[in-house]
Amino acid sequence: MTKDEIPDWVGAQEFYDKYETKEILGRGVSSVVRRCVDKQTSRAYAVKIIDITPSDKMTPQEIQEIREATVKEIDILKKVCGQDNIIQLKDCYESNAFFFLVFDLMERGELFDYLTEKVTLSEKETRKIMRALLEVVQFLHSHNIVHRDLKPENILLDDKLNIKLTDFGFAAEITPEQKLKEVCGTPGYLAPEIIECSMDAGHAGYSNAVDIWSSGVIMYTLLAGSPPFWHRKQMLMLRMILAGNYNFSSPEWDDRSDTVKDLISRMLVVDPNQRFKVTDALNHSFFSQYVVDEVRQFSPYKRFKVICITVLATVRIYCTYRQAKPVTKEVIKSDPYAVKPIRKLIDACAFKIYGHWVKKGQTQNRAALFENTPKAILLSIAAEADNPAHYIW
Ligand code: ADP
Ligand code: MG
Repeated sequence: MTKDEIPDWVGAQEFYDKYETKEILGRGVSSVVRRCVDKQTSRAYAVKIIDITPSDKMTPQEIQEIREATVKEIDILKKVCGQDNIIQLKDCYESNAFFFLVFDLMERGELFDYLTEKVTLSEKETRKIMRALLEVVQFLHSHNIVHRDLKPENILLDDKLNIKLTDFGFAAEITPEQKLKEVCGTPGYLAPEIIECSMDAGHAGYSNAVDIWSSGVIMYTLLAGSPPFWHRKQMLMLRMILAGNYNFSSPEWDDRSDTVKDLISRMLVVDPNQRFKVTDALNHSFFSQYVVDEVRQFSPYKRFKVICITVLATVRIYCTYRQAKPVTKEVIKSDPYAVKPIRKLIDACAFKIYGHWVKKGQTQNRAALFENTPKAILLSIAAEADNPAHYIW
């Protein structure tokens, strides 16, 4: 039987014979991801169901494009299989109307939701996530693959909070000399050269450096809780990206190390030729800090050094404590956001109450929760909520 003679439902039937589908885990433009259970082993997986049923909503050409893109996504997923921090494609089925891509289930969901729950991450946790992410990017680039849609929604977490990169829907194969011109990705994470391609048909194109830019945006977002480039009007946000207009503003960045800011600023460089390559980023001193040896065997010299460092640290802590201004009622009343624990409390409360309004993708509005005053937070989020009843003010 040729492919055209295979009845519509064969692939779908095979999938449903083997798996039982359960609740929805996530949705994309033309896909829905559900939990599913292998009927024989009772093991749970995630299945991405891509609907290519002819309908009024899609032209035959669009359907054909989705079909071709999915075939490419499957092909790349097979090529990258085996890397520890990339989602594993277990099985796939194809019928004329659907694709079923079965993956390992990531119980902890997206990094995006984890961040919403935590508000911001520590440098230590960011280091662990970013090292794994950059190692994946290094792996992809060394296999001549560019992901083009790196963002916290496409980074999943397993039960030990290890990351797994997913969604290779925009991934492309590209040789080191080759340039791409196709405009794709998610607005807040787009590299300037991709935006330039959309504005100038004669643009020379872009290369895998776009993944480093998006990784820089992710890293900034993990530490600050909000993205570096954000504006309610998308056009203005794109202008900010083109100009590389972002800052390490207070108070979110006050307590962050210069090392981490240095790394981010070398990833968020507008000129892709001046931007860090993935190996430069992994070799940055931010990643060489806190490498703890498994077994510590202290020589007398090392022991003496540790004692000296401890004494110096104690003196420093004491001095800092002496210099610290007391938190009076007046300070709390006049500028509560300036006091770190109170600032953290305000941000955490805002995320607890309004976290479910944090939108993903195109209209991502996480930054609205950081517009400092409680009134601004309420107004900006209420303005984006569909239901006028959300206006509490
Ligand atoms: P799309 O191309 O439509 O964005 P994704 O592959 O990114 O599709 O999947 C959409 C969402 O489904 C993800 O952002 C995530 O929330 C959820 N998801 C995808 N794969 C898994 C998985 N293996 N385990 C758990 N959730 C998943
Ligand atoms: Mg996705």
